[in-house]
Amino acid sequence: MTTTLANRRGLLIILSSPSGAGKSTLARRLMAWDETLQFSVSATTRDPRPGEVDGKDYIFASQAQFREWVKDNEMLEHAHVFGNSYGSPRAPVQAAIEAGRDVLFDIDWQGAQQIRGSSLRDHTLSIFLLPPSIAELHRRLVDRGQDTPATIAKRMKKSWDEISHWEAYEYVLINDDLDQTEERLKTIIRAERLQRSQQPGLADHVRRLQTEFEDLS
Ligand code: ADP
Ligand code: 5GP
Repeated sequence: MTTTLANRRGLLIILSSPSGAGKSTLARRLMAWDETLQFSVSATTRDPRPGEVDGKDYIFASQAQFREWVKDNEMLEHAHVFGNSYGSPRAPVQAAIEAGRDVLFDIDWQGAQQIRGSSLRDHTLSIFLLPPSIAELHRRLVDRGQDTPATIAKRMKKSWDEISHWEAYEYVLINDDLDQTEERLKTIIRAERLQRSQQPGLADHVRRLQTEFEDLS
């Protein structure tokens, strides 16, 4: 018997790291690897970066709209990061996991903490990415070419804040070689999907084995 998407509840796969360590890049690679994965498109009050698409990369919203969503309990989690509000809309996540689809989150430690503290904690897989060095983190932010020097400085200043939460995560990877990190992430996800709790059909299968076994004697 194999476990099908229809008979398991989806996992909430959380990727966190200091800004520039590689979350978005790796999230994109994972989405390309497994078409059943659903990316949780966050809402944010920050301005779009060049090339970012509303509804795909983020849902860009005003402060007033964001506050309304929070008030109406439409956010699974939300936090203030680098002077802006960010949050994960609840409804698409709920629909996906009930349909057995895993959902990938690119969120900070505060969001991860809120999800771990929610009723979804047993379905959560959290992974933290560390940069190989602080100098390399800075280089990546600069090379990304999407933030002003002032924004980069702000993100660098906050990076230790994010890194200091690394021990709250189940898995921690040093994102040195991109291909290697991608492979490691896939290994983690594959293994997690095979956990007993992720295979609700197993009890029925064992009962069938038992019946077959007893019929032998
Ligand atoms: P985050 O989403 O964590 O802020 P990004 O995924 O945007 O980070 O990555 C920041 C920059 O670093 C991007 O230009 C990306 O191409 C680059 N990058 C990501 N991972 C690696 C890696 N392992 N080696 C070299 N460059 C990387
Ligand atoms: P960026 O502005 O670089 O896209 O994201 C800045 C930070 O906000 C990153 O650490 C990212 O993971 C985090 N972030 C993005 N979306 C969310 C969200 O929905 N909730 C939380 N808590 N953090 C988020």
